[in-house]
Amino acid sequence: MWVHLTPISSNKKTGAIPVSTTENKSCPKECGISEECYAGLGHLGMWWKKVSDHKYGDNWDAFCKRVKKFRKNTLWRHNQAGDLPQDENGKLDSDKCESLADAASHTDGWTYTHYDPTDEHNNSVINGMNEIGGLVVNLSADTMEQAEEYYELGIAPITVVLPEDAPNMGNKTPNGLPIVVCPAQTQEDMACNICELCQKRDRKSIVGFKAHGSRRKKLSEKIAENLA
Ligand code: SF4
Repeated sequence: MWVHLTPISSNKKTGAIPVSTTENKSCPKECGISEECYAGLGHLGMWWKKVSDHKYGDNWDAFCKRVKKFRKNTLWRHNQAGDLPQDENGKLDSDKCESLADAASHTDGWTYTHYDPTDEHNNSVINGMNEIGGLVVNLSADTMEQAEEYYELGIAPITVVLPEDAPNMGNKTPNGLPIVVCPAQTQEDMACNICELCQKRDRKSIVGFKAHGSRRKKLSEKIAENLA
């Protein structure tokens, strides 16, 4: 598994914090929005391809060693593109995930995963990572139904994709779970290094990401179909 770590990101959305990118082989087949993924195009898409072609980056052990050297409480985002490492069965690689969680236990990091958390193996790996703390793993839901199902698992905070024209405030799942639209999408000069919502393991609200990037129309249509 190949991963690149930028020590101080110039990504406006994250702010100037360490940000990693993992090769695209890490993405699970069950991701419901892979064809509309914001990370596949533009500047980030080109960068992701270079990491995926192993032109930039390190192997997993070298990456974990660098994370281990972060100062205490370093705020960082694992994966502006890519997902957690995959094993030969297409599920989360428990050893690599545990190595990262251990290396990051003294930090304030966060990441997202599209691996199916209702699968017993994946559930146990994600739960184990969040028990260690440090690197908070968010579950990425592609539909409201999934968001509610994942919330009930009680192992991780949840994010969900929203249509690009969703209101900035007052969003809820059909059963009434509150959804906070990512403040970097609704407020000028807001970035992850100020917001830190995705780093809150025990938050009750779901973070909603409005469809963005050049494939946002296609993604919005897909979300609307799922809601129909
Ligand atoms: S909700 Fe906050 S921490 Fe999460 S992606 Fe948006 S700005 Fe960053």
